[in-house]
Amino acid sequence: MDQDNGPAAGAVDEFSLIADLFAPLTRGDPAARGLCDDAAFLPARPGWDTVLTVDAMVAGVHFLADDPPDLIARKLLRVNLSDLAAKGAAPVGALLAAAFPRDVTPDWLRAFAAGLGRDLAAFDLPLLGGDTVATPGPLTLSLTALGRVPAGQGLERRGARPGDELWVSGSIGDGALGLRAARGQLPALAAADVAFLADRYRLPQPRVALGPLLRGRAGAAMDISDGLVQDLGHLCRVSGVGARVEAARVPLSPPARRALAGGMVTLADLLCGGDDYELLFAAPAGAVAALAAAGDPPLTRIGTIVAGAGVSVVDQQGVTLPLTRGGWRHFRAAP
Ligand code: ADP
Ligand code: MG
Repeated sequence: MDQDNGPAAGAVDEFSLIADLFAPLTRGDPAARGLCDDAAFLPARPGWDTVLTVDAMVAGVHFLADDPPDLIARKLLRVNLSDLAAKGAAPVGALLAAAFPRDVTPDWLRAFAAGLGRDLAAFDLPLLGGDTVATPGPLTLSLTALGRVPAGQGLERRGARPGDELWVSGSIGDGALGLRAARGQLPALAAADVAFLADRYRLPQPRVALGPLLRGRAGAAMDISDGLVQDLGHLCRVSGVGARVEAARVPLSPPARRALAGGMVTLADLLCGGDDYELLFAAPAGAVAALAAAGDPPLTRIGTIVAGAGVSVVDQQGVTLPLTRGGWRHFRAAP
């Protein structure tokens, strides 16, 4: 427990919060010890690597402060499951560190826990532990996800080779458009398109089934959270290669196509915007053909890994497109 700076989280009692709302989310997994101990005990599994990832989310930065609490919880879990999927890992469990504003209400907390519980059940995972504190600042959440992959078979960013095909799952740019949709900034778009895009922003679909299927097929993989172009740049840098993306091949959802056709967004915005949570991977020629033919989720070849460095995006005539913005950066000064 932390130093007592007054009542924890307003009228909310931290211990009953853990016992009433979070303990059920262990879903009976003995490793969590019912959230009645100092720590969880996860049995090791010989022959497997444990894959660990953590993502923090801050109100006003990663979600809107008045977003529905259940969706905040579900996105928090899903962005971490996306990281595990990108490493070819199957999820095993999660730990939650939560700093709730002092005036958080019991109703808000109940809805948050219900959303988290809903997705933990959907992905068949236990909550293994965490920490609960009150903060004078904005709601700040951190979730650690644990996954497993057969020893040595995890997918890394550094394995791309010149000549590899470059692929993405799903569609690109919906996250960035979805943020605008959620903020009411796409008034010219049909209501159904606005709803689709806002949902893509608020509730990403982590590619948990696809990730493990890429083991032994993809040479390098990552999830796209900060924009296709910027994230691809990271993959290229650690692999010591460059990439050539054919803009016309990049898969766009029908609502994103309509927003583009209506001049509401530029292609650069879609290629550089964040929050897609699709998988980006490089694979030797033909290695994912059968997977792509299966079509679930849709996989699209968007370009090629080349010798050298840097990401170029070319149009159908092979002309390099100028990209004015790279992608999301937390510590970049405002333009
Ligand atoms: P400590 O005294 O070490 O801070 P706590 O009282 O915070 O321990 O935690 C007691 C138990 O409740 C531990 O099993 C811890 O993992 C769990 N726990 C606390 N907060 C959360 C949370 N937000 N989500 C899940 N488990 C939690
Ligand atoms: Mg303790």
